[in-house]
Amino acid sequence: MNGTTARKAVEPEKEERTLIPIEKTKKCQGCGRTLPLTEFSRHWRSKDGYMEECKECRRRRTSAATSSNPLEKFTARQLMLELKTRGYKGTLEYVEVHHINLSTI
Ligand SMILES: [Zn+2]
Repeated sequence: MNGTTARKAVEPEKEERTLIPIEKTKKCQGCGRTLPLTEFSRHWRSKDGYMEECKECRRRRTSAATSSNPLEKFTARQLMLELKTRGYKGTLEYVEVHHINLSTI
């Protein structure tokens, strides 16, 4: 028996360390930009602990909410009467939103 065991050349395990980006990013659901997490406010209820929208979007949205349409505080009837007193003639079309709780019917 000629016992020459062929040694298999064992390749040294390559240790490839992929560099982990220090700054993690997140895609903003508001503007669609991928921004560093520092641009997102923390939010305990979300999965990753950050808001879905970046700080900029949030600021824009909250400022838009406070300076919303001034006509919104009037009812459709009030607006119609206002237009009538101002001499507006024509047809007005509006959509009313009804909130009906089906469990009470
Ligand atoms: Zn954004």
